[in-house]
Amino acid sequence: MDAEQLREYGHKMVDFIADYYKSIESFPVLSQVKPGYLKELLPDSAPNHPESLQDVFEDIRQKIIPGITHWQSPEYFAYYPSNSSTAGFLGEMLSAGFNIVGFSWVTSPAATELEVIVLDWLAKMLKLPDQFFSAGQGGGVIQGTASEAVLVVLLAARDKILRKVGKKSLEKLVVYASDQTHSALQKACQIAGIVQDNFRVLKADRNSNYSLCPEVALEAISNDLSAGLIPFFLCATVGTTSSAAVDPLSELGKLSKAYGMWFHVDAAYAGSACICPEYRHYIDGVEEADSFGMNAHKWFLTNFDCSLLWVKDQRPLVQSLSTNPEFLKNKASQENAVVDFKDWQIPLGRRFRSLKLWMVLRLYGLENLQSYIRNHINLAEQFEQLIKTDSRFEVVSPRNFSLVCFRLLPAFDDHDNGYKLNYNLLDAVNASGKIFISHTVLSGNFVLRFAVGAPLTEEKHIKEAWKVLQDHATTLLRSI
Ligand code: PLP
Repeated sequence: MDAEQLREYGHKMVDFIADYYKSIESFPVLSQVKPGYLKELLPDSAPNHPESLQDVFEDIRQKIIPGITHWQSPEYFAYYPSNSSTAGFLGEMLSAGFNIVGFSWVTSPAATELEVIVLDWLAKMLKLPDQFFSAGQGGGVIQGTASEAVLVVLLAARDKILRKVGKKSLEKLVVYASDQTHSALQKACQIAGIVQDNFRVLKADRNSNYSLCPEVALEAISNDLSAGLIPFFLCATVGTTSSAAVDPLSELGKLSKAYGMWFHVDAAYAGSACICPEYRHYIDGVEEADSFGMNAHKWFLTNFDCSLLWVKDQRPLVQSLSTNPEFLKNKASQENAVVDFKDWQIPLGRRFRSLKLWMVLRLYGLENLQSYIRNHINLAEQFEQLIKTDSRFEVVSPRNFSLVCFRLLPAFDDHDNGYKLNYNLLDAVNASGKIFISHTVLSGNFVLRFAVGAPLTEEKHIKEAWKVLQDHATTLLRSI
């Protein structure tokens, strides 16, 4: 590492990125390249000799940027947001600069200790129950993604129940969630060896605004118990991926407790909103949870990846995930004086991710973060109102947080109920490159999702996006 070269190149790279942000609106939001485009543009093998940074920048401009979908564009409304910010970027930069691998406390005490402190700060902002703080048996940890978070708690819950009922009962274990739960849970079940038929995907429909009814869960649990199976894990979501529906945490949590099940709450997207007192009620009932997750890398100005997971009791996690090879032994760990986060996650190595979250919390402060969330929710409300002014469209499910689910209404005698119409509208607006939205299917209907949450989005972008949608709808309807 040549420090002076780093200084020179680093400044150039920061300039490059700052220029990118300045011109971000000039690019098509959704990349318009065809599969395999890059192979035709790059050589077959790596260079034998060093090339200039200037040449690399030129290739980034000409060859890489066309293949970028601009998640940070103010006209990005697809999936859920993946925020960046100056603070988050600086934290990433510093983390890359130190480039430590903090698997156990001794490998960089500040990395572990900052993570513990920052997760406690966040737990305080979210008003999580005391058991989720590091003072007792519980605490928070940063995972790469919500998928890893649900996997590690599922493994912990699985092993905890198997210690009680015996390892041979693995095939009797049953997991419960609604059909709106993120597919991350299905993947976790596959990895954890849960029998495929024992993953209960419970129906959550229009009547319950796509949230899981405790009665439906209770019925499934009772049936499984009668069949000699062992219910052991229930996952509730606050802000589902399709429509931002909110499962009733209190009832589902009590039910889980009554049947001795692990209760996980996935608030990957919507958890951020719960730092605002007026939205905190969405996680009322989190007292019942064994684990709670939220992605700071979604809607909390923290660059990807930074998924936060809290557990009330870290012991089952450690029991499932701990290894203690000779080459990692050290005095602090042997004396049980420290947390070794390697035992709370799948990989051994871990990045110094808490730096970026710490920088976000310090450089924004709670009040600004709350305003940030409120502004997006306000913009989503404005978009919802715009839809309501045009009788050709309908809002499909009640807006929660900053997600609006809507569709273009099909003609009365439309036999596919608007599926093709909305599919074509999605395709047309995204191909225009002006905005990027995504879709879902709710109650059999193809539905468009408009998620506000990119840091650069302002009111004018909402109005522009609405105009793009209206114009394409007009063209489509004319062509029918
Ligand atoms: N849970 C919910 C509710 C989500 O919306 C998402 C992604 O959008 C996930 C989990 C998966 O997140 P990750 O990509 O961090 O695994």
